Amino acid sequence: MGLYFDPPLVPRCRQHLTQYHRAHSRECWAGAQAVEFPQMKDVPSELIGPFPCQFCERKLPTVQALEQHQSVAHKKRLEEIKMGQILGETLAQNLGSFPAPSAQRPKMRKRKKATSKAK
Ligand SMILES: [Zn+2]
Ligand SMILES: [Zn+2]
Repeated sequence: MGLYFDPPLVPRCRQHLTQYHRAHSRECWAGAQAVEFPQMKDVPSELIGPFPCQFCERKLPTVQALEQHQSVAHKKRLEEIKMGQILGETLAQNLGSFPAPSAQRPKMRKRKKATSKAK
């Protein structure tokens, strides 16, 4: 399904199997290196997958594929998170820039009741 696959390992002896080297020994495989793909050479390691999805068990070969997958499979979840972030930011801003609500509230002046017992 995915594009990602484990790169084959190159044995340390770097020999092909021939009549002189019929099988790779344990030493050949010790420190065997993964084949480097030339097209991946310039790609920073954080861009090389697989990228596990935060919402399910799937792993995607590229960031783009992950975003694509999430935007389809977890659309609602992503929107909820986005909304939550916006709400949270707004809340934080309001809390930060306004004084406590009680201090802001104008004091209610008590009206003197006009009583019959005037001076
Ligand atoms: Zn070998
Ligand atoms: Zn997912």
